[in-house]
Amino acid sequence: MLVSSHNQLLVICSIIVAILAAYTALNMASRVSNSSGKAAVLWLVGGSFAMGFGIWSMHFIGMLAFSLPIALGYDVSLTLFSLLVAIVSSALALYFVCQETLPYRRLILGGVLMGLGIACMHYTGMEAMLMTPRIIYVPWIFILSILIAIFSSVAALWLAFRLRQECKRATFSRMGAALVMGCAIVGMHYTGMAASKFPLNSVCSASNSGIDTKWLAVLVITVSLAVFAIALIVSMLDVRTAKLASSLDLANSELLKLAWHDHLTGLPNRTLLNDRLDQLIRRAERKRGEFALLFMDLDGFKAINDMHGHHVGDLLLKEVAQRLLEIKREGNTAARLGGDEFVVLMEQDSPEQSAALAQRLIDTMAQPFQLPNIQPQISASIGIAIYPHDGDTGHQLMVNADAAMYHAKKQGRNGYCFFEPAMNVDVHLQMQLQQHLRQAIQNNELVLYYQPKWVAPMGPMTGVEALLRWQSPEHGLLMPDRFLPQAERSGLIVLIGNWVINEACRQMKVWAEQGHSDWSVAVNLSAVQLEHISLVEVVRGALEQHQLAPRKLVLEVTESTAMQDAEASLKVLNQLSDLGVFISIDDFGTGYSSLLYLKHLPAKELKIDRGFITELAPGNDDEAIIKAIIALGKTLGMKIVAEGVETHAQQTLLTGLGCDTLQGYLLGKPVPADALLSMISSQNQNKAQFEYLL
Ligand code: C2E
Ligand code: CA
Ligand code: CA
Repeated sequence: MLVSSHNQLLVICSIIVAILAAYTALNMASRVSNSSGKAAVLWLVGGSFAMGFGIWSMHFIGMLAFSLPIALGYDVSLTLFSLLVAIVSSALALYFVCQETLPYRRLILGGVLMGLGIACMHYTGMEAMLMTPRIIYVPWIFILSILIAIFSSVAALWLAFRLRQECKRATFSRMGAALVMGCAIVGMHYTGMAASKFPLNSVCSASNSGIDTKWLAVLVITVSLAVFAIALIVSMLDVRTAKLASSLDLANSELLKLAWHDHLTGLPNRTLLNDRLDQLIRRAERKRGEFALLFMDLDGFKAINDMHGHHVGDLLLKEVAQRLLEIKREGNTAARLGGDEFVVLMEQDSPEQSAALAQRLIDTMAQPFQLPNIQPQISASIGIAIYPHDGDTGHQLMVNADAAMYHAKKQGRNGYCFFEPAMNVDVHLQMQLQQHLRQAIQNNELVLYYQPKWVAPMGPMTGVEALLRWQSPEHGLLMPDRFLPQAERSGLIVLIGNWVINEACRQMKVWAEQGHSDWSVAVNLSAVQLEHISLVEVVRGALEQHQLAPRKLVLEVTESTAMQDAEASLKVLNQLSDLGVFISIDDFGTGYSSLLYLKHLPAKELKIDRGFITELAPGNDDEAIIKAIIALGKTLGMKIVAEGVETHAQQTLLTGLGCDTLQGYLLGKPVPADALLSMISSQNQNKAQFEYLL
């Protein structure tokens, strides 16, 4: 056998080239899996070329490092064919690692194909020497070299698959992996070389090709290094662009998030909700399915916001949003419309599912909230509208769910209601009402009824409370609860309220001139009026116009009205009080007044809410509450009024508890001004009867 030797410098070069080829290949593999479409195909082609060329040049440089005592050369076409084999098997390998998954079977298959490809390339390259007699291969080393090729290919594929994601540590891991892969390729080559034996009389038919092997080695090394350098630079540039593109994407999605989400809670806002609604409708249409729109409004939120400030209100809303997110199922949408209004969309098979969700929401919202320093408790009212039964457009569903929610509120809050067509009529009626109310003001259809207030237990009369009625040509005499909420929502209440103040002052002046100069007239103020800048001027103007002493006008403000914007209310109420007008706190006991705040109000009268009077009986809870209210009012130097007195028993008990003034159906229902005087005289007869009974 001929004695072979290796040029050490070229061997080292071949190892370096192998490692660089492996690194480039790993890098390219990650590019393929991180891009898509045309770009992915380009990366695959470029990657296969770089990798195939890399493996091949390692092999070829290794061959150039090899020398025998005879002249050696390489057949050009066979050498080029071995390059082609290297590139094709690299393409195959890259294709395998760039799939979504790499199950073991595919990993093994890919590794075997690639290993055989490399071995095939190597031994084709050996054949390119065109030796006669043929090279003898030691069988076991020959098989070992193929096994090394297969095992290292499997390992390489597995590593490449694991490292294909771009991440910070990827570069270092990739370097380590490239070292392993490079050594495996080199190992295969030199094992293959060790398997080859050249008989003593060997002649290399390709040796007369005339190419100087030294120059060939320099050429191949330079070209392969250039290929790797170009591949790596392009790949790095692509990473940069990809990173830039992804940060742009991120900025874009942040912007979208801002436009589509509520700032405070991060939940989808109305815009995104409408979008999702449209999507759901289209899907339900296609699948003939149904979904529910749950409209949730918090009860008692406003009071907490007013009492503890917006900061606490905001924290509470965030917590509510958090609870919503915890409860809603994956795929459902939970959005905030604004204020304390939320909407949940859920696909369902039957109404029981949305009912169950509504009940869970209500139960969860009723749990006390843990905020710094306070643990507020609220409840929620929910209205449910179902597509397609309750509407086939997003708008219709929202309007109907809203109507159902109002219904739930009316039924005592802390509950849910499914939409029914009767509620819709209500909504239409409300809209109409608003229209008609505007006309009513112009057509003078508003009237004031007056209800007498008496010194406890049965007189004399101290004055009246003016109560608004609407004499509608269409619907007859309407009570304030039928139209005032609408007037408040639309702002019409300011116009109406101004009219009430003026009319009450005019009527009071008439009565004063008729000899009832000791009476006063009480007018109810709503929160919207109290917030309106013109109120003080309107009151001053009315008093002046009708030349009425300010103390004859009582302004009744409910606790919650005064609390709505506590500081501003206090300012206005002080100005009114400075005018000489009498301030009274209406419906006392239902709101959330802090006693401290009450102390600062310039009010001189407390009206105990009718709710406590209705079931008042000696020794029950209501009596205890009334006692406490009276004690409180007296400490603050206020007069105590009980309203809603309907029975003699209430009359006697309230008087006994220390009420100063009584008002109620027992003593006189609200009547028009011209009916008041005749009513009083009949009341006086009753009074005689009552005294007789005593
Ligand atoms: P309010 O200020 O608590 O008025 C007392 C209400 O109790 C009146 O109802 C009155 O008719 C009713 N009432 C009086 N005595 C009895 C009784 O013995 N038993 C029963 N069951 N009810 C009695 P009305 O007139 O329907 O007024 C309802 C509410 O509408 C008023 O409650 C007040 O908050 C508001 N309101 C009425 N007029 C005006 C107004 O001109 N402006 C404003 N902003 N609100 C008004
Ligand atoms: Ca009142
Ligand atoms: Ca009242």
